[in-house]
Formats: sequence, structure tokens, C-alpha cells
Amino acid sequence: MKQSKFFTKTRKEKIKDEASLNADLLMRAGFVNKEMAGVYSFLPMGLKVLRKIENIIREEMTETMGAHEVLMPALHPLKNYEATGRDKIDVLFYTKLNSGGDLVLGQSHEEIVTPLLKNFVSSYKDLPCGVFQVQTKFRNELRSKSGILRGREFLMKDLYSFHATQECFEEYYEKSKVAYHNIFRKLGIGDITFISFASGGTFSKYSHEFQTISEIGEDEIYFCSDCKVAINKEIIDDSPECPECGKKKADLEVKRSIEVGNIFPLSTRFSDSFNLTYKDENGEEKPVYMGCYGIGVSRVMGTIVEIFADEKGIVWPKEIAPFHVHLISFNKNEETEKIYKELLDVGVDVLYDDRDKSPGEKMAESDLIGIPYRMIVSEKTLENKTVEVKKRNEDDVKFINISEITDYVKKII
Ligand code: ATP
Ligand code: MG
Repeated sequence: MKQSKFFTKTRKEKIKDEASLNADLLMRAGFVNKEMAGVYSFLPMGLKVLRKIENIIREEMTETMGAHEVLMPALHPLKNYEATGRDKIDVLFYTKLNSGGDLVLGQSHEEIVTPLLKNFVSSYKDLPCGVFQVQTKFRNELRSKSGILRGREFLMKDLYSFHATQECFEEYYEKSKVAYHNIFRKLGIGDITFISFASGGTFSKYSHEFQTISEIGEDEIYFCSDCKVAINKEIIDDSPECPECGKKKADLEVKRSIEVGNIFPLSTRFSDSFNLTYKDENGEEKPVYMGCYGIGVSRVMGTIVEIFADEKGIVWPKEIAPFHVHLISFNKNEETEKIYKELLDVGVDVLYDDRDKSPGEKMAESDLIGIPYRMIVSEKTLENKTVEVKKRNEDDVKFINISEITDYVKKII
């Protein structure tokens, strides 16, 4: 992609009155546009990052969890929420049909997916099954000052699982922990994201959250550094010790963190409301056991910006970066154009700064955008038939022969 063809532009100055670092950087670098508090447009590079995050999640959902992808609606009938008693929860957006009828905007999909499965599940042979989507959620959040970490409209991956027995559910739930660890590792935040014990509601002792350690996080966790697990502040008084090794509350580290995911045993809470049942081997009618498993896709993107950014701008992990390399020519020349084409030919995703701007401006913008590798072609490097290569988060530069550049790049990306 040539930068001269972009419709977005970067901004040098910090955005006025923007308290959130992720929103400031993402807007200045041209990844998102803020439409109002908690509501963002994702621009071409922002959408690329979002899609890469989605795809890492999708792969684990499909392959590890054996789940099937669907896309459910954002408009939900209010009566489904009356059936589950969730029609008054504080984050619901309400609306009405012109022809009569109350609706809400989907904040989660238990009220849709449970009646949906009723059309297909009738026998033990239809179970277990897992259904997931990556879809826009709407929540009327009281405060929305943390950029894309807390949207009023945001992207979530939500998986729902359906089982004949509690044992079958538990097996799947354990597998979801593995899938989630895989996802956060692949996203480049595996070493700072920990499973955290949270309240399980009425139906089980615990649910689990996945918490990424960060000073700007809204949550507080009690972290056991030996077991690499945490307990949420809200439940620590019920269970004042590490659930794995029994270390006492006073010996756990208190840390701030961002909830990037949540897995939750639902038992028969929703299947009871919609009478979702199956017939067992003896023809006896039984309720279906359910679980739900969320990841905040857009929140993960904001978290990664917050965690890795430095004073110059964003630093993307290569797994989700909008481009593999940022090729910059200090003055227009055929040689850089050739390198650009060769890299594209071998499948490297290149952003090519071919614009008429000063070297200083180009390098500052490149740091702001945060692509993992910067490659500069200048008069000086051309004299030596080389390209200057630098990693975004390192200071050292390397000079690679132009004739070897495609092989070199294929190896590092
Ligand atoms: P929080 O406690 O932060 O309000 P939650 O517990 O209400 O979140 P869940 O219902 O568990 O959220 O949703 C699943 C995941 O969706 C969360 O783990 C989080 O990563 C993400 N998420 C929730 N609310 C938002 C939001 N307003 N904006 C962006 N992501 C969100
Ligand atoms: Mg949660």
C-alpha cells in the first residue's frame, strides 16, 4: 500500500481533551475516528488490526473449541429479556418498532442464542455444540473515557456452549482456558495476561476472567506470583487465599488490570428460561447445560496499544501489526519502487511511504504508526546498495544489501 494513496492523515499534536492514551494514539496515527464518547469508526489500518485479532481468536474457536461461527442480530426483542429477567439491567439500550414492539440493542446474546438452539436441539445426539460470533455489542456504559477499552458500541467475540451434562460442560470449560491462553499468547500479551477467579453468580463457585496487568486497568486483582493466577478484588473476601496453593491474601500482590476476556458457567439459567431441553437415551426430557465465553476484541486492541506504546507512538506486536514493514524513501527513486514491488511479490505486507515529505516527518510518522520494521532507502544507502533496517522497539540499525532484502524480510516477519 502506498501512503500517498491514503485518505487518512496522521496528526502531530496530542488530541485536545483526550484523556485516554489508546484513543489519542489511535486517532493521531489514523487507525480510528471518535464519533462520540464510546463510539468509534475503525479506519483502514485500524480495521486491519482488528481483523488480525479476530482471526487469531477465530482459529482457536474453530480448531481448539470445535465451535461453529454465526452472526446474530444486534436488534433483540425485549420480551426475550423479560423471559430471563434481564430486561432492567443498567447497560441496556431500549428502542421501539414503528409498527409497535419493544426492542433492545444486543449487549450479549444468551437471549438470542438459547431460543435459536431450541430449533435444532431435541436429542442427546444433538449435543454438545458450540456456537460463536464476532459481533458488535451495545452497552449504555455510565462512563466511557478509556478510549476503545470501554466502548458504548464495541466488538466482542462471544461463544456459547450447550451440553447434556454438567461433566461434559466442565470438560469444555477447561478446554476454553487452554484456547484463551493460546489466544493471548498469540496476541503477544501471554506473559502479562492471567486467569483470575471471579464470582460465579448463583450457579457455580467461580467464573474466570482473563486479566492483563496494566496500571491503567479499571480492575484490581490479587495475584499469586507462584501459581500465575489471580483473584478478583470483589471475591477476595469470600476466598481470602490463592485457590491453587492456599497462599494467604496478605501474601498476594495487588495489581491493576484490564479484563480482556471472561468465561462463565451458566448451568441451566438460560435453558430454563426458554425451556431448552433434550431427550436422553431413555427418552427422558432434561435441561441443557450452558456456558458462555467472551473476549473484547476492540478492548484487546486498545490494551495492546496501552501496554507497548512508548513516547514516540504505538508499537504493534508483529502478529497483529497493520503491515509487516514500513518502507520509506527519502527521495523518490526507481530503486525503492522496485524493492516495494519485489516485497509485495513474495507476500510481504508493505506500507510504502512514497510521499514528498521531509525525512524527519516521515520517521516521526513511522514511529507513531508503529509497524514492527522500518526500512529506509536514502541517497546514502543507495550509494552502498543497501537498505537501513530498524525494529520499531530497538535502537540498532542494520544495513542489508538490496539484492538480499526480500530473503532477509521473509526471514524476520
Ligand atoms: P466490564 O467489567 O469491564 O464492564 P463485563 O464483565 O461487563 O466487563 P462481559 O459481559 O464479561 O464484560 O463481556 C465479555 C468481554 O467483553 C469482557 O471481558 C471485555 O473484554 C469486553 N467488554 C465488556 N464491556 C466492554 C466495553 N464496554 N467495551 C469494550 N469491551 C468490553
Ligand atoms: Mg466480565
